[in-house]
Amino acid sequence: MILIFKKDATEEDIQSALRKIEVLGYTPHLSRGAVKTICGVTGDDRALDESEFDQMPGVESVLRVLKPYKLASREFHPDPTRIPVGGVSIGPGSFAVIAGPCSVETEGQVESSAELLQHCGLKLIRGGAFKPRSSPYSFQGLGEQGLQILSAAAKRHGLTVVTEVLSEYDVDLVSRYAGVLQVGARNMQNFALLKALGETRTPVLLKRSMMGTIEELLLSAEYIMKGGNPHVILCERGIRTFETETRNTLDIGAVPAIKRLSHLPIIVDPSHAMGTWHYVPAASMAALAAGADGIIVEIHPNPPEAKSDGKQSLNYPHFEDLLTRLKDLAPHLGTAVN
Ligand code: PEP
Ligand code: MN
Repeated sequence: MILIFKKDATEEDIQSALRKIEVLGYTPHLSRGAVKTICGVTGDDRALDESEFDQMPGVESVLRVLKPYKLASREFHPDPTRIPVGGVSIGPGSFAVIAGPCSVETEGQVESSAELLQHCGLKLIRGGAFKPRSSPYSFQGLGEQGLQILSAAAKRHGLTVVTEVLSEYDVDLVSRYAGVLQVGARNMQNFALLKALGETRTPVLLKRSMMGTIEELLLSAEYIMKGGNPHVILCERGIRTFETETRNTLDIGAVPAIKRLSHLPIIVDPSHAMGTWHYVPAASMAALAAGADGIIVEIHPNPPEAKSDGKQSLNYPHFEDLLTRLKDLAPHLGTAVN
C-alpha cells in the first residue's frame, strides 16, 4: 500500500500517518520526492484497509501495489535512485564504466589495469578473487590474496573495488576490501547471501541470473532492501536462449523495462552477455543508447593468456577505443561517462 500526501500536508500530518502505520504493525518507508511525498507500507497488508488512511489529514490518496516487490518498485519511490560509490553517482545523468579483469591473477596484471583506468579518468575497478566457475577444475581465484592485490592497486590509483562475494560466510571478509559487493548470476537467488547483504550498508551489484525473469531479479533486490540495505545496483548480463554464437543473449529490452518498473539503477555487462570480445563494443554502445546507467566490462593486458574469460576480454587499445566512442555518444543522450 502507498499513501500519497497532499502538497500542503504538514509535517505533523506525515508523522501521524507514519505512527499509525507502525501502531498497526507495518513498516513505513517515506520518500520525499521533488514533486510528491509518498509513504510505502511493507508487511502483509492484505488485511489492511485503505479506509484506515484515506480520510486522515494530509493524505491525498491510498493505492495498493499489486507487484510482489515493493521497496524496489517505482510506485514506492517515483524518483530514480542514484548510488554514490567512489566519487561516481550510479544513476541517471552518469554512465559508469566499471572495468577490470575477470579474475585477479597477478600484481602486475591488476596494476596495469588500474593504471589504465586512472589514465582514462575512471573510478571503479572490477576483478574476481572468489570465482564462481562452472567446472570445479577451472581456476577458482586467489581468494583473500586476490582481494589484497586488487585493493592495493585500487588505492594507488584512486579507484574503488567492485568484486564478487560467493557466500554469506565471506561477506565480512570481502566487505573489508570492496566498495561494491557483486552478486554473480549464479547466486541471484541465493537467499541466504541476499539476506546477509541486506545487513550491510555496502552497495550491492546484483546480476540477473541466466534464467531469471525481470520480476525475479527485482524480488532478489527486494530481499536485500528488506534487510535494510537500499543500495542496490541491478545488472543485465545476458540470459540463456537457444542461440550459441553469443555466450548468452543480451536482453537489452530489460533496461527500459527495469527503468519503468523500478527506481534502482541498472547497468549492463556486455562481456558475459556476448562471450566474444568482437561483440563487446556494440553491446556497450547499445547499453548506453538503451538508457543503462553504466557497464561492467572485462579487460586484460594479454587476453589470450587470461586465466578466465580471455575470449571475451578487451585488450587495452580496444578498451580505449570503446571509451572514446562512449564518450562521444553520451552527451547526445544527456549523460556523461565516468
Ligand atoms: C563476473 O562478473 O565475474 C561473473 C562471473 O559474471 P556472471 O556472474 O554474470 O556470470
Ligand atoms: Mn568473467
